[in-house]
Amino acid sequence: MFSINNILRENIKRLVPYSSARDEYQGEASVFLDANENPFGSPLEQQYNRYPDPLQIEVKKRLSEIKGLPIRNIFLGNGSDEAIDILYRSFCNPGVDNVILVPPTYGMYQVSANINDVEIRNVPLTPDFQLNLEGIAEAIDKHTKMIFVCSPNNPTGNSINRADVETLLANFEGLVVVDEAYINFSRQRSFIQELTEYGNLVVLQTLSKAWGLAGLRVGMAFASEEIIEVMNKVKPPYNVNEASQQLALQALGNIEQVNAWIKETLLQRDKLVLGLKDFDFVEDIYPSDANFILVKTTDPKGIYNFLVEKGIIVRDRSKVELCAGCLRITVGIPAENETLLNTLQDYK
Ligand SMILES: *Cc1c(COP(=O)(O)O)cnc(C)c1O
Repeated sequence: MFSINNILRENIKRLVPYSSARDEYQGEASVFLDANENPFGSPLEQQYNRYPDPLQIEVKKRLSEIKGLPIRNIFLGNGSDEAIDILYRSFCNPGVDNVILVPPTYGMYQVSANINDVEIRNVPLTPDFQLNLEGIAEAIDKHTKMIFVCSPNNPTGNSINRADVETLLANFEGLVVVDEAYINFSRQRSFIQELTEYGNLVVLQTLSKAWGLAGLRVGMAFASEEIIEVMNKVKPPYNVNEASQQLALQALGNIEQVNAWIKETLLQRDKLVLGLKDFDFVEDIYPSDANFILVKTTDPKGIYNFLVEKGIIVRDRSKVELCAGCLRITVGIPAENETLLNTLQDYK
């Protein structure tokens, strides 16, 4: 049985979090002289002289409506990259604990592990980019604290079989972190609905991709109240700045625009696949549930350099495990995708 106390670091159990002025007094008042802010204002039209809400309640209220999840199950970070780092710092003892990664996958899981001096046990995906459950079971020991599953996966674009993730959730006594950065582009159901079923589930999402707010740095983690409490204790007090909170809240009111873009992105993705598959140098285009496609080519470096020369930048993933020959191409606006396809006509 999963119990958070079995995996939480002892120093985090004992941690007394920083108590900010905004934590100690949260009500309304006419005179705030408790936080050493500049009382005159900011030298800007918009005023940012006051510290932001440490728990981002207004943004979470809106997210709670959109996701159908109580505020107590929502954590907000300075990008989901911050949530990843906070999970490491909360649950993994440096030099002692390990995590399981399933490459090829998102690079930050590895970088964050290395920063925190946490051992990585790599269990590569199968050739069809699915979980190797036997390999994962063999790699787990009593120091294994987390398994990261990215679905839809970056850079391969496919979704991970739901039943396999459920097998991990039901049998692994550490955290299963399901990164759904690209879930808005997928036909698959989010794992958010499973939070009531599995105490060891953490779902990551972000406003950086479909929501079009990569520059604001707002990431989300959804998990049990216990896990969210730990993450809130460990995070820097004002981790999401006031401008990001205000603009995120505004953007979350415009879900129709985002849904229209998602629809258009999927149409454009199909068109891009059709356009690319006729080129001689394209060997394979992997099915994608995301806003990018992984394309296996005969000459990744040559094509990459050719495109750079024409001012078009794609991602060379050919050095990545199971991705030999592959370029990762983000779906652009129609004109950009056309430019890409037209330009590739001239590649010899
Ligand atoms: C882009 C991406 C993220 C980054 O999210 P931020 O919220 O911008 O930090 C997280 N996970 C995956 C798989 C991504 O591709």
